[in-house]
Amino acid sequence: MHRLDVGRVRAEFPTLAETVNGRPLVYLDSAATSQKPQPVLDALDAYWVHDNANVHRGIHELSRRATEAYEGARLELARWIGASDAAEVVFTTGTTGAINLVAHAWGLDNVREGDEILLTVLEHHSNIVPWQLLARRTGARLRYIEIDDQGRLILDGLDHLLTERTRLVALGQVSNALGTVNPVKEVAARARAAGALVLVDGAQGAVHSRVDVHELGADFYALSGHKMCGPTGIGALWARRELLDSMSPWQGGGEMIHTVERDMSSWAPVPHKFEAGTPNIAGAVGLGAAVEYLSALGMDAIVEHERDVLRYALEGLAAVTGVRVYGPESLDERSAVVSFTMGDAHPHDISTILDSQGVAIRAGHHCAQLVMKHFGISATARASFYLYNTRADVDRLVEGLEAVRTIFG
Ligand code: PMP
Repeated sequence: MHRLDVGRVRAEFPTLAETVNGRPLVYLDSAATSQKPQPVLDALDAYWVHDNANVHRGIHELSRRATEAYEGARLELARWIGASDAAEVVFTTGTTGAINLVAHAWGLDNVREGDEILLTVLEHHSNIVPWQLLARRTGARLRYIEIDDQGRLILDGLDHLLTERTRLVALGQVSNALGTVNPVKEVAARARAAGALVLVDGAQGAVHSRVDVHELGADFYALSGHKMCGPTGIGALWARRELLDSMSPWQGGGEMIHTVERDMSSWAPVPHKFEAGTPNIAGAVGLGAAVEYLSALGMDAIVEHERDVLRYALEGLAAVTGVRVYGPESLDERSAVVSFTMGDAHPHDISTILDSQGVAIRAGHHCAQLVMKHFGISATARASFYLYNTRADVDRLVEGLEAVRTIFG
């Protein structure tokens, strides 16, 4: 395996050259959204400047080009997540859009009163609230896999949690709040053996690992483009073809129909059945370019690099007096996200002080209030790392935290 040339990578991300509060920017908030490399920006620019037209229906040259770029991105993404059929990839607004699509299009027809949906305490609100709304409409019950004091799923009781009423197990691949890498393969295998379907929230997983939806054992896989070098407002839902075929559309409109009569219509084949209206064509093109960019660098090299920076960060933070890091102790069970608190300093104050030094981190509940509740806190500070971060970035973080320590004692 080749090593990632981080200097070259950094040079491709123009935003990283910004100066913030008089210091060169250190961007440690990629779990919220990643920065974008020049090839993605160029692809977006080229689309808008040369190819912009609506897709599918047009006979003219520009529409043909736009359709080719849009469908080409679907094919690229399908290959990247190990899907054998590009029609299994539905473009959505992101992970949130994908999960809500499943909750409506699959959930309303397949979940009944007394049925159960099994979630985990680690979930992002996007993988909780849609199921709460579904449960309220159907009378289904939500159950949760608990976590231990390292923020790892407790799987001892899984066989009791999985009952004949469990219709779906929905879990994240990687926790955005703690960085925990969940044993998705194991949970999925046990869920499917119990007759439940499995939805994997890959918002953070697709960023930090090579994904193969079949190997994971997923029935549904959701991802967001903006976390993996692509634009905002685009993501995807992958699902097995027969599952998508069996589902009713969620939203109605143009693009998703075959014929329209006065009282009823028939649907276009998947994936178009689930893509009502003019889609985010430029977004898809940008996401396709992002996938191409990441593929060319090689996910193995990216993961290896992130691991080195993560190890260095964990060591660095451990050396700062008063810092408490949350999440698994073992590097093998965590991804490039580090959540921490620091004595009496509020995470927002930590973030503000770091920002004054040009270091961008996130502070808050990270849309994972159940995780915060588990640890009896309301917020953490979170540094998240991606392919362009370096050990020097970690040094700047640690230097900033030393400043926090001198202020808060
Ligand atoms: N799940 C996880 C684990 C996430 O980290 C995020 C984004 N923070 C989401 C879901 C929601 O993604 P989006 O806002 O892109 O729809």
